[in-house]
Formats: sequence, structure tokens, C-alpha cells
Amino acid sequence: MNQIHLVSHPLISHKLTILRDKQTESNYFRHMVKEITQLLMFPATQALALQHKQITTPVTTMTGQTLQSSVIVIPIMRAGLGMLDAFTDMIPTAQVGHIGIVRDEKTLQPTTYIEKIPFIAAKTSVFILDPMLATGGTLVKAIDRLKEKGAKNITYLGLVGVQTGIDYVVKHHPDVVMYLAARDSHLNEKGYIVPGLGDCGDRLYGTEH
Ligand code: URA
Repeated sequence: MNQIHLVSHPLISHKLTILRDKQTESNYFRHMVKEITQLLMFPATQALALQHKQITTPVTTMTGQTLQSSVIVIPIMRAGLGMLDAFTDMIPTAQVGHIGIVRDEKTLQPTTYIEKIPFIAAKTSVFILDPMLATGGTLVKAIDRLKEKGAKNITYLGLVGVQTGIDYVVKHHPDVVMYLAARDSHLNEKGYIVPGLGDCGDRLYGTEH
């Protein structure tokens, strides 16, 4: 399977432009993050396994299909939380784990400051949510931990990434499938994606000033 999927759709392009616009306020920004995540979920969940279910409609009996896979979703804090409601609205049976990772200012290494991950069975489908794929260091660290906990089937959903970050993740975890709404040009000297949308956590939660 192709590992990186850039999901191209007029609705995604339209909503991304609203996200990128610095005039967009937190409330509307949150709403757009949620809606783009919902649009990304359609392709990102297409491999989920189904099982047969015998049901009776008002007209007759039939064999329907329901989700068979157990699903765990992991928002990477803080910005990944902005994508979570979209996911759990669509798959309400998903269990939610949390990972918080910060970059140590001295060593520049990503360090985990919070981790609460449900039991992961070999067949569990694990989805990681993090809007921005910059250096890829945080995502690789999160995938490392999830694999240590037994995850065998991991999908990443993000909004905006850059090629260096994508390459870093592919190099360390070639089995992880990635879905992004956009691939931007490069990182600037402060580590922001260009043109990007700024600090996604700050814009989601109105903490940029
Ligand atoms: N994280 C963000 O929130 N924005 C970027 O541009 C890069 C990483």
C-alpha cells in the first residue's frame, strides 16, 4: 500500500484556506479542524474490517455489516485534541488514549510528559491524530511507544506536513500509513511549517497572545 496519502478534495482545500488565514478566530478554527478531520476519516478508515450482522428491517430480514475492528484513537497533545471529537463522533466505540510529548529545550529530544494508553491487541486498529507534521520527531516517538505497547496496525491523520517530516517517519516506520490534507513547502528557522497555519495548539485554544 502507498504509505502517504495526500487527500485532495475541493472541500478540504476551501476549509484549509480558512484555517491558514490568520484572521480566523479560535472558535471557527476549531470548527474547521473538526470538519477537515471528518473528511480525512473517510479514506483513512477504508481498510477497517467488517463483520456480518443479521438484522430485521421494517420490511424483511437481511445480513448487514458492522465494524469488526477494535479501534483506538490517540490524539497527540495538545493540538491533536482538536481532531478528537471528529473521530469519536464518527466511531463512538473507539477507545481514546493520550500521549503528550514536548521537545526538551537543551537536548532537543522529544520527551513524553503524559501517557495513558488502553490495552492494544494485535488486531486493534490504532489511529494517531496530530494536525502538524513538522520534523516528524514527535510522531516517531509516539509510534515507538505504541509499537512497544503492541500496536501492529497504525494509521496517522494530520492536516499539514512537510516532506522532511514525512521522510523521517517513513524512514523509521515504513509500515505506518499516513493521511494528510496538505504538504507544504518547508520549515522556517523556528520550526514552523511554511506557509502553514502557525501554532495549531495556540490557534485552537486562543493562547497565541
Ligand atoms: N506545530 C505547529 O503547531 N505548527 C507548525 O507550524 C509546526 C509544528
